[in-house]
Amino acid sequence: MTLQERDTKHLWHPLTQHKTHPKSIGIVKAKDCLLFDEDGNEYIDGIASWYTAMYGHCNPYITERVQFQMNQLDQVVFSGFTHKPAIELSEKLIQILPANQQKIFFSDNGSTSVEVGIKMALQYHFNQGEKRQVLLALEDGFHGDTFGAMSVSGLSVYNGPFEDFFIEVKRIPVPTKDNIDIVLNQMQEIHAKNKIAGFVYEPLVQGAAAMKMYSAEQLDKILMFCQDKNIITIADEVMTGFGKTGKYFASDYLNNQPDIICLSKALTAGLLPMAITSCSQKIYDAFYSSDLKKGFFHGHTYSANPLACTAAIAGIELLKSESIQIRIQEIIIAHKAFGNHIESHAKVKSVRQTGVIFALDLAIETSRYGNTRDKLFQFYMDRGVFLRPLGNTVYILAPYTITNSQLEKMYEVIEESLMIV
Ligand SMILES: *Cc1c(COP(=O)(O)O)cnc(C)c1O
Repeated sequence: MTLQERDTKHLWHPLTQHKTHPKSIGIVKAKDCLLFDEDGNEYIDGIASWYTAMYGHCNPYITERVQFQMNQLDQVVFSGFTHKPAIELSEKLIQILPANQQKIFFSDNGSTSVEVGIKMALQYHFNQGEKRQVLLALEDGFHGDTFGAMSVSGLSVYNGPFEDFFIEVKRIPVPTKDNIDIVLNQMQEIHAKNKIAGFVYEPLVQGAAAMKMYSAEQLDKILMFCQDKNIITIADEVMTGFGKTGKYFASDYLNNQPDIICLSKALTAGLLPMAITSCSQKIYDAFYSSDLKKGFFHGHTYSANPLACTAAIAGIELLKSESIQIRIQEIIIAHKAFGNHIESHAKVKSVRQTGVIFALDLAIETSRYGNTRDKLFQFYMDRGVFLRPLGNTVYILAPYTITNSQLEKMYEVIEESLMIV
């Protein structure tokens, strides 16, 4: 039996309606920017396996380091114990994070990194004896699938059955030049009625909302308002972190630095699941007390797993390397040229780009998980390119190590696909 056949017996896949999508593609190998299936087909990984494998798959610079670490220390409890991979990672991260970030807290995935950020913000106020029970978030944001993260997510397609159980969240539109005064007024009103504890946002690019982009200038005004009112700002950089916007972090484009930053996905270079919630000294100090109860009693069994930390250290070294930094700039230029070329196509409504994140909206109406998406997905796969269109948006977020010819092939296949929509 093939992997595809055996799969259907016991496996339940994420974000999948198995009745309409019964078949999963059996992948047997990945190398650099290619995925290989069980029938011998290869696919360019145009979304870096959900924005994780940014330095290419099975990159020996990373895997050799993890192999070495595997024989030194595999796992140890992170309460009461510490180890070199966690310490080194904290030092390396603090060097590249926005200057106000001082402390590193570990968890296992993007959702838990947001969950931790929310809990830090709520307890920050609680510890100071102030009652603040409402969170603020952007419309169309996506922050993960645990309850806190779902509560602040605005994409209702994921949330329907659970909405009655959410924590209280008020939503504001993504700020633009035209609506910013209205949005600030709205925040003022919400805060006057119901003190806001924290504001959760994806800076500059909303990934799951189909790579919706907005300007740093307007976001800065919102962050300034928050800082003025001691509303804890939580930047969800799970998708945008580690070079994708052209800088190390999207927050680097802003004048106002967040109190808390959530990181995962490319953090471990696509090798192992791990997440980090970093925070400023101000947040940490609110928990530092001789009163035990004021501590942060949140912990996951695999916190700061030494192998995942080692992968993250190697990933940061690659990110900072000259060759990757040059490659990021080259991809940005290549995407721009493609954007300019394709923009005037009759089937293209608009193109947009932030760093190496490129997105194109088709000039058609379709639902998020409608037919067009499936048709396009198959069209790309048949031609050896793995892309996951969202609604009428086709986007590229490829590994930094993608070659020019692989880029060209993706552009060609995308252009060709415009004929079938
Ligand atoms: C993917 C993602 C998450 C959730 O991360 P998981 O590891 O899938 O739990 C949260 N926030 C953003 C912005 C993401 O892109």
